[in-house]
Amino acid sequence: MAEREHVRVAVIGSGFGGLGAAVRLRREGVTDFVVLERAGSVGGTWRDNSYPGCACDVPSHLYSFSFAPHPDWPRTFSGQEHIRAYLEHVTDVFHLRPHIRFDSEVKMMTWDGEKLRWEIETSSGSLSADVVVSATGPLSDPKVPDVPGLDSFPGKVFHSARWDHDYDLRGKRVAMVGTGASAIQIVPAIQPEVGRLTLFQRTPPWVMPRVDRAISGVERALHRALPFTAQARRGLLWGIRELQVQAFTKHPNELGFVEQLAKRNMARAIKDPALRAKLTPDYRIGCKRILLSSTYYPALARPNVDVVASGLSEIRGSTVVAADGSEAEVDAIIFGTGFHVTDMPIAERVVGAEGRTLAEAWKGGMESLRGACAAGFPNWMTIIGPNTGLGNSSMILMIESQLNYMADFLRQLDVLGGRAALDARTSAVDAWNTRVQERMKRTVWNTGGCTSWYLDPSGRNTTIWPGTTTEFRRATRQVDLSEYELLRAPAEQKTEVDA
Ligand SMILES: Cc1cc2nc3c(=O)[nH]c(=O)nc-3n(C[C@H](O)[C@H](O)[C@H](O)COP(=O)(O)OP(=O)(O)OC[C@H]3O[C@@H](n4cnc5c(N)ncnc54)[C@H](O)[C@@H]3O)c2cc1C
Repeated sequence: MAEREHVRVAVIGSGFGGLGAAVRLRREGVTDFVVLERAGSVGGTWRDNSYPGCACDVPSHLYSFSFAPHPDWPRTFSGQEHIRAYLEHVTDVFHLRPHIRFDSEVKMMTWDGEKLRWEIETSSGSLSADVVVSATGPLSDPKVPDVPGLDSFPGKVFHSARWDHDYDLRGKRVAMVGTGASAIQIVPAIQPEVGRLTLFQRTPPWVMPRVDRAISGVERALHRALPFTAQARRGLLWGIRELQVQAFTKHPNELGFVEQLAKRNMARAIKDPALRAKLTPDYRIGCKRILLSSTYYPALARPNVDVVASGLSEIRGSTVVAADGSEAEVDAIIFGTGFHVTDMPIAERVVGAEGRTLAEAWKGGMESLRGACAAGFPNWMTIIGPNTGLGNSSMILMIESQLNYMADFLRQLDVLGGRAALDARTSAVDAWNTRVQERMKRTVWNTGGCTSWYLDPSGRNTTIWPGTTTEFRRATRQVDLSEYELLRAPAEQKTEVDA
């Protein structure tokens, strides 16, 4: 019988996290790795979200890898197709395709404590790996609410992240459910073509103008000829966002003046006081993600749009019914209802050293050491793990910090030699999370008077990093061995690691 394939590192996912990990592994001289991707192409978020109007909320020169600058970004805020093309380009430039296994969904991973390795079952076969780097994405598995009657709705239903491009929306009566980051991009994109649009809004978002423009040929030529100008641009974009962090994390009251700007943005487009009242949030700006759009409010003011300030509660035949009793007959329902975030789906597919799944270990809420490693799951780390999200800046900065940590983790294993594994100590995980949650107490995400997808069902914020990206960069520069237990193959002894 053929030997089961074994690799040093198995990376799961080929979005920014997985591709970034692949490049970093190469840079570290690790070539014995695979990238397991359930879809048929790279791109993650930017492959799956192809809805009309899909674009990034962070300027392109910051929302890209520091090691793969792109002087030719066409707009200040890139659209989905450009970011997807960028990731395809990165895949080719760094010659990553030979490592990627497409159509390979990871079904289960089990820690083998004898051999100190992960046994991995995928939809295209099985393999084992010394180390698993899970980059399955924080916003990767769409969440559709369990609405009574949905199953018998006779029309078209889809989620924003699984857009059905074959369905012609022209002239249709459409229900858009949700008013989050995706919905506010979709609404102005489809409003001109649909017959009637009914927007179900449980909570209104704060929306700031989006200052988007084409990047001129002169700017692009300058960035190509003098790469430091693109770096300076990135630095400026990063610095501005870094300076905003204190207001979010320590002084939420300072955000009051931003609310005035957002209200002005609304007042410019919405003249009807009743509609303005419906659209005005009653919580502190920043508590939920601040959204950027200069076209959302103008679209809502159009005569073919109805805003229902209430959640969708029931579907009766082709009639959608809101919690406040209002009804509309529709041909299609589009869910812009977000993703499984605090219940990370991959956690159900990882069985650790104690025979329980990561989902079971995280029953009381997700927590990891430095956003990467959970106790009892040796040599397994997450890119964009618990409390690594950002409310105001580029997630690529956090991903690159976690890649530094990954690289040092592998280096430490090399230095330790032999068959070894590192398992985060429960005490270290607890200490890290106590610090994170202590800092969280004063933040706008916890004190701003809203519920959001940042919070888990118990109200704990397990998604956002309550500090600057610089602080996170520092915290993930190196692996502190005293935070880990060293595991040796049974022939050798289980040893305590002293730093
Ligand atoms: C619409 C939208 C807009 C966004 N805008 C911004 C923004 O403006 N700024 C910002 O910083 N962030 C934004 N984000 C967040 C964005 O998700 C991150 O910035 C980043 O793209 C995440 O990269 P990732 O590689 O971690 O995850 P993803 O891009 O989600 O990639 C995960 C990959 O893992 C694969 N995968 C998942 N499970 C399995 C499995 N079991 N087996 C094999 N493969 C699997 C998926 O198919 C996917 O390809 C946005 C997200 C969305 C959805």
